[in-house]
Amino acid sequence: MNSQEIKALDSKYTVQSYGRCDVVIDHGKGAKLWTPEGKEYIDFTSGIGVNSLGYGCDKWISAITEQASKLGHISNLFYSEPYAKLSQTLCERSGMSRVFFANGGGEANEGMIKCARKYSFDKYGEGRSTIVTLYQSFHGRTVTTLSATGQDVFHNYFFPFTEGFRYAKANDIASLNSQLGDDVCAVMIELIQGEGGVLPLDKAYVLELAAICKDNDILLLVDEVQTGVGRTGSLFCFQQYGISPDAVSFAKGIAGGLPMGGVMFGAKTADVLTPGTHATTFGGNPVAAAAANCVLEVMDDAFLASVNEKGDYIRETVSGWNIPCVTRVKGMGLMVGIAVEGISPKAVLAKCVEKGLLVLTAGSDTVRLLPPLTITREEIDTGLEILKDALTH
Ligand SMILES: *Cc1c(COP(=O)(O)O)cnc(C)c1O
Repeated sequence: MNSQEIKALDSKYTVQSYGRCDVVIDHGKGAKLWTPEGKEYIDFTSGIGVNSLGYGCDKWISAITEQASKLGHISNLFYSEPYAKLSQTLCERSGMSRVFFANGGGEANEGMIKCARKYSFDKYGEGRSTIVTLYQSFHGRTVTTLSATGQDVFHNYFFPFTEGFRYAKANDIASLNSQLGDDVCAVMIELIQGEGGVLPLDKAYVLELAAICKDNDILLLVDEVQTGVGRTGSLFCFQQYGISPDAVSFAKGIAGGLPMGGVMFGAKTADVLTPGTHATTFGGNPVAAAAANCVLEVMDDAFLASVNEKGDYIRETVSGWNIPCVTRVKGMGLMVGIAVEGISPKAVLAKCVEKGLLVLTAGSDTVRLLPPLTITREEIDTGLEILKDALTH
């Protein structure tokens, strides 16, 4: 089928809930993508931080195909090796204690929220179930994770939303303290607010927040669905903040392109979810787990160092252009935000697409770049030339 035919079918039969970009993608290699007609794009999106090893990675393809031919799925009522191995690797490399596997970020956060509430219920009984999250956060699209998301635009249509969430201003301890109280069981944060605009939390703020949580037996939940799995230049972003969260959710990049998410629990929360209290049919699927094992094997220290180098290179290059409409370049590792004024991020995106570069937006003023972590210097340079052109013409 050609692009026209594919778009026609989609507009007729698919729920039109996505504001899609006018591009059909057929195949990819490295950080390049092609339409059915052969038009080439440099990809600075990686499926919103999912294709961490890029497209067509040989190791990843072998891991998946070998596992698929051996065992494509088995229920969580049985044990399987890829699952057990993945749990071990995640715990050993993060310092966390146990892992629960889900199928995406929103679902992972649901599990993290359930665990926090049960931890508090087991220890203190009813009435201590409130979770404080931050304004501009994004935690998912389920009815509960929309509640957790501290942006009013997400609190529409689907009433009634799950109760028990309050919001504090990011990087503001006074605002946090004003929302804490005897009814609070947890604080949930993204260390870099991704959808909200690539907004990193200050280290001093995070350390103080962590200390307040610890002193009051309030659980610290970190949503690393976007920042995790190498994206910010360490396996998990919390490792660069020097904190020990009670739970960390992850998803997007974990399986390099297959649907998977999960939550890692720390010492306090490791044994809260007991038999029958939480489950999901596909969680830890062997093919997804084999893909994730491959992703983690590729992400050794040298790989993570290269993510930092490439991210710094992009930020330095963009800052060095001194383009008047660029007001701030932010982020960590290969999670890059470019704040613009006088031109909308959507307009920049449209110009980039026209010239052969895929980018994302975030918040109201930010062009967001989440390239595959394996992107080459040459692919970065080609993409940056197009971006520069889009920002100046
Ligand atoms: C993408 C994202 C989610 C939601 O993940 P899904 O897999 O779309 O459910 C949750 N939290 C953060 C920080 C995200 O970036």
